[in-house]
Amino acid sequence: MINMINVTDSEIVKYLEAKKNDKIYDDTHLEYYCNTCGFYVHEQTKHCKKCNICVGKFDHHCVWTNNCIGEANYNFFISMIVSCFLFELLYFIKSFQFLIEKSY
Ligand SMILES: [Zn+2]
Ligand SMILES: [Zn+2]
Repeated sequence: MINMINVTDSEIVKYLEAKKNDKIYDDTHLEYYCNTCGFYVHEQTKHCKKCNICVGKFDHHCVWTNNCIGEANYNFFISMIVSCFLFELLYFIKSFQFLIEKSY
């Protein structure tokens, strides 16, 4: 699910939507420019070379989900980490229980 979320910077999405509807998008409030994409982006945006997109509030490129982790999917990523941890914890507890029961 995480790799299905579009993590492209929201300003680029707005710009492309405006262009699609033949409207002019005002990007003068943005200071940072991505030379690769050719768009003005947010300050915390970073261009990912692997995905070849600008990611809003870039955290990292995750090899497990094969997608960037940024503003759009950060909460889902944290949920995935927490649920994996809880599953491992349950697995460890049940394995330990099994070992104790077998030792008697
Ligand atoms: Zn870019
Ligand atoms: Zn990436």
